Amino acid sequence: MTMQNDQIAHDHTTRPSGRRLISVVVPAYNEEESVEEFHKRLTAVFDGRDCDLEIVFVNDGSKDRTMEILRSLLESDNRIRILDLSRNFGKEIALTAGLDHTRGDAVVVIDVDLQDPPELIPELMREWEAGYDVVYAKRTQRDGETAFKKASAHMFYRIIQRMSRVPIPQDTGDFRLLSRRAVEAMRLLREKDRFMKGLFSWIGFPQKAVPYQRQPRHAGTTKWNYWKLWNFALDGITGFTSAPLRLSTYIGVFTALLGFGYSLFIILKAMLWGDPVKGFPSIIMIVTLLGGVQLIFLGILGEYLGRMFEESKRRPLYLLKDIVEKGNPESEMKRIPQ
Ligand code: UDP
Ligand code: MG
Repeated sequence: MTMQNDQIAHDHTTRPSGRRLISVVVPAYNEEESVEEFHKRLTAVFDGRDCDLEIVFVNDGSKDRTMEILRSLLESDNRIRILDLSRNFGKEIALTAGLDHTRGDAVVVIDVDLQDPPELIPELMREWEAGYDVVYAKRTQRDGETAFKKASAHMFYRIIQRMSRVPIPQDTGDFRLLSRRAVEAMRLLREKDRFMKGLFSWIGFPQKAVPYQRQPRHAGTTKWNYWKLWNFALDGITGFTSAPLRLSTYIGVFTALLGFGYSLFIILKAMLWGDPVKGFPSIIMIVTLLGGVQLIFLGILGEYLGRMFEESKRRPLYLLKDIVEKGNPESEMKRIPQ
């Protein structure tokens, strides 16, 4: 895939109708309780606005009635397109599938659980019209989260900021608006590790934050837990910096020098005062310390190697079971995208 120059042109009105088309990408996984309410609020925002709307729902292998509800919404609203993934691929990949199937001049990415208020979209659009390519919503406060979660999130951003060359904004989710050229840029990034916040920053272009208050979930529960957050942090770090690998070199050199110094000391001591068999504690200390350090860095190597392994298989990011939309003769056919 190559980027054409005409795709890069920052043009707001490319359609024959002269009206701009806004695509909204909505990943949904087991969200039967939220979908209808979300649709109602989203379409209300676009009522009477001077632009066309396209809603791309991505059903990420839901096991509840999400897909049925989406189909019934499509009956009365032909602006909807449903991408039905072949199984649950996770939010990042669901988002990517959505971005791949948008046609809009600008694309808004939003959660279906109404934690991201659709009412903010006009504000995001204003910044886009002012010339920004990536307009991201920035939380002004984090309600209903434990102090531990807030503190660990803060730490994570400090660490990744230090280590990575791409600025990764704190307190932002995936809720944002992308211009067409930003979407095309995102579509060039096909890596398996999809640390979206990092990727959105990586593409560059003029970016702008819009503050908002994140709402509690409309219904259902979050799919996150601490283990997932930890893995998310690992993906973020390994995807954006190889600093831990370099760290192993430095710590290796440091411990080797220490070991060398200590060996000299032992040898001199033995030469001067002889060597009655003692020193069990120091041997144990050294063996366990070195063993530990080696294992840690083997682990770090493994984190990178494992990701290279995943990448080297060159599997597609996702498979589509179906694309359901009004007037799509191919709908209900099995398709396999890139
Ligand atoms: N989601 C998804 N696939 C998943 C998990 C989540 O498409 O495997 C969707 C979910 O339906 C919601 C959004 O991603 O629209 C955010 O999920 P969630 O609310 O669980 O995350 P949080 O808001 O707590 O970060
Ligand atoms: Mg949520």
